[in-house]
Amino acid sequence: MSTGRELSIIIPSYNEQDNIQRTFQTIDEILTQNHIPYEIIFVDDGSKDLTFTRIQELSLQSGQVKGISFSRNFGKEAAIFAGLESAGGACCLIMDCDLQHPPQLIPEMYHLWQEGYEVVEGIKASRGKENLLHTFSANTFYSLISRATGIDMSRASDFKLLDRKAMDALLIMPERAPFFRALSSWVGFKTTILPFEVQERDIGVSKWSVWSLTKYAVQNITSFSGAPMQLVSLLGFIMFFASVILGIQSLYRYFTGTALEGFTTVILLQLIIGSVLMISLGIIGHYISRIYDEIKARPRYIISKRCG
Ligand code: UDP
Ligand code: MG
Repeated sequence: MSTGRELSIIIPSYNEQDNIQRTFQTIDEILTQNHIPYEIIFVDDGSKDLTFTRIQELSLQSGQVKGISFSRNFGKEAAIFAGLESAGGACCLIMDCDLQHPPQLIPEMYHLWQEGYEVVEGIKASRGKENLLHTFSANTFYSLISRATGIDMSRASDFKLLDRKAMDALLIMPERAPFFRALSSWVGFKTTILPFEVQERDIGVSKWSVWSLTKYAVQNITSFSGAPMQLVSLLGFIMFFASVILGIQSLYRYFTGTALEGFTTVILLQLIIGSVLMISLGIIGHYISRIYDEIKARPRYIISKRCG
């Protein structure tokens, strides 16, 4: 029941059976102490373990817990949007199930909201422990996506508090493959930031492999930016410039009678043009497949069960 100041906490959970109870208890303790009315929505993203059973048990114990279960794994963004759709609060908070987003900060975020901020963004004070390759790829990804969105995303996270207005603005976005972290900044509204230290994951493992991270990066860059397509034109211009110079040189040789050398040049040109063309076609093809996905207009997720 919305009292006009209720906080809906949305927690996407994928194979987190051992975290559900603990996460709930931690949050419950902090919010009860601070007299913040809340509901928690656990979104089970097609887990293969007992995550949803744990959520169901919890919803029987506590009237504040709701659960949604997907028919299969649809990804974290889909889970966040399912949570937004079911949230009844005047504001909502999105956080991970593994307590890497410190729940101790929720009261502070909530108070910022009460002061009138409509979006409170948790910003990573540091990126936590990551290896060199991960840091490098993350930096590349964030500098590209920051340029595409015009928002500094290098320290952005999904740990955010949104006012009902921002939630509604997000929910009317028809995108099939939404990138929550960027969209929630893109919608605007009165925003403030709150730095936090990324905690260590105590239980379970991170769900990201190198491959899934790469897919995630490409998907989100292309959903926010047409820049890679402009890269195709840029490559075209560079090749054109090179061809003018080589063309002049070849004609000069022809007229001075020193032609018929340059076999290496021909081979190199073939290879360069071939690879540039293929890369370009790949980029364009990727956008076409994104258009195809959007136009099919399939639902973002399918719910199989609910509780609470
Ligand atoms: N998650 C999800 N669906 C997925 C992968 C992850 O709902 O397909 C959830 C996961 O349960 C966790 C959050 O998203 O609550 C962050 O995932 P994880 O901790 O694996 O990522 P990391 O913290 O390593 O970036
Ligand atoms: Mg995590």
